[in-house]
Amino acid sequence: EAVVYWMRMEDLRISDNRALSRASTQAQKDGMPVVVIFIISPQDYLAHDRSPRRIDFTLRNLKDIKTRLASLHIPLYVTVHTPRRTIPEHIVALLQEWKACHLFGNIEYEFDELRRDIRVCELAKAAGIKVEFMHDRCLVDPGIVLTQGGRVYTVYSPWQRNWLATLNSNLKWIEEAPLPKRNSEDIYSNPTLKALFDVDIPDYVHGFECKDREKMREMWPAGEDAARQMLDRFLHAKARSSQMGPSNPLSEGAEMSDKKSRALVYKDSRDKADKDTTSRISPYLAAGVISARECVRHAMNLQGVKKVQATRDTSLGTWLMEIAWRDFYNHVLAAYPRVSMGRPFQEKYANVIWEMNEEHLQAWKEGRTGVPIVDAGMRQLNTMGWMHNRLRMITSMYLVKDLMIDWRLGERYFIENLVDGDLASNNGGWQWCASTGVDPQPYFRIFNPYSQSEKADPTGEYIRHFVPELRDLRGPDIHKPSEKVAVKLGYPLPLIKHEEARKRALRRYKNPGEE
Ligand code: FAD
Repeated sequence: EAVVYWMRMEDLRISDNRALSRASTQAQKDGMPVVVIFIISPQDYLAHDRSPRRIDFTLRNLKDIKTRLASLHIPLYVTVHTPRRTIPEHIVALLQEWKACHLFGNIEYEFDELRRDIRVCELAKAAGIKVEFMHDRCLVDPGIVLTQGGRVYTVYSPWQRNWLATLNSNLKWIEEAPLPKRNSEDIYSNPTLKALFDVDIPDYVHGFECKDREKMREMWPAGEDAARQMLDRFLHAKARSSQMGPSNPLSEGAEMSDKKSRALVYKDSRDKADKDTTSRISPYLAAGVISARECVRHAMNLQGVKKVQATRDTSLGTWLMEIAWRDFYNHVLAAYPRVSMGRPFQEKYANVIWEMNEEHLQAWKEGRTGVPIVDAGMRQLNTMGWMHNRLRMITSMYLVKDLMIDWRLGERYFIENLVDGDLASNNGGWQWCASTGVDPQPYFRIFNPYSQSEKADPTGEYIRHFVPELRDLRGPDIHKPSEKVAVKLGYPLPLIKHEEARKRALRRYKNPGEE
């Protein structure tokens, strides 16, 4: 008597949602209502180090979705379930209670989730319920972009060329999935289904209370409208010369300069952290509040082109190449389950010797390493739940190659604090910086944090904003304060000398397993 769509943490939207759209079409065909379910699984959140910020963002989006769906007479039923291993039994029991004949969902490529969904398929089949899981997260489905020999690419550039050609060979990849149709009001005459409308969405998940909830709400408003405004802010609104947060990026009106839109300056300024020129769409893409397809369609409209132009020739093309990275890391995740299991992609680096230095790790987390750019980045993460991409690279490289601390500890700290935390991109980024991942560059890519600082923050505004102890410094001092200046300002001295640390990293990577 119902067709069910199982919404997950990465597809929190109604529009352009393939599984929801397919569920709706099926329901129309069968003359049945659609029911939407979302299962909160605290054990999964614990196992995957989900940040309270990301969980809070999920709940806020669900509230928005519930209201929107209710206007279509579609119930959104949110339930908390433990233990996580019995989720398959739980969902099939619910399907039976609702007399559902069909279950739809978008595929999650993470290992635990795939294993869970296989079990759901088995149990549902035994109960006579059809199940369809479909690709929705990426622009091109994992498993499609392969080398001539039929293998999965492990290098971005050739993968990206093939990916772009695939995308442009058939624009169905970016076609919009139709909105779900309204349920017949008959649904209210079924007491079991009617009751689902009255089940509230919790304000928090026990054990994952978000301490800075109000700030997060202000900075990262929930809902599809907010996601579109964020995209619009990137594509159309004028870029700002400074002010990198924390504030609501959508309410910045008065401070805008009269320069070009972010989308037009992206190519040349995306690596500058002292400017606010990137899209900040990542929390919305990670949670699926907006589809990657929609981002691409808007970019194409703005460019006035009929094909996807993800090349470095233009500013928007450069941005689309970043969106491609998201697909790339998901393709890697889907093809190599070991990246979901804390294993290095390049297994030869499994035995690199790491420092067990709790004090250094703590200083890095709190932004007290004595390297201003690293500290500014970490403090941005701690205050905003978000960090500029260049800073994610600088801070992670510093943890791994300078402090020689296991990349997995940094990966976890990011996931625990990011509002856009996403296994594929976070793991991909960390393994890239740790030289254990799909980067063709060998391990001797080691950033010098001081020269990186001059490039990423030429004005010093970024550091001054997040490291107020240094707010009065001008010139080169801001990037590398002398010992005298640091002591005077109460700013920590560097934990380590970069040149020595660099030599240690080279030695340890060259001969994994040796000091
Ligand atoms: P824009 O520059 O406007 O890019 C647009 C979109 O493209 C982003 O929103 C994102 O979806 C995608 N994108 C851009 N760069 C990358 C990239 N390098 N890898 C994958 N996708 C990318 N991104 C996450 O969404 N979640 C994470 O948990 C995450 N962890 C990271 C950890 C490390 C160590 C590194 C180096 C990068 C990580 N990234 C992560 C990628 C990137 O830093 C963020 O996506 C980006 O900073 C988000 O800001 P934006 O939306 O303004 O990006």
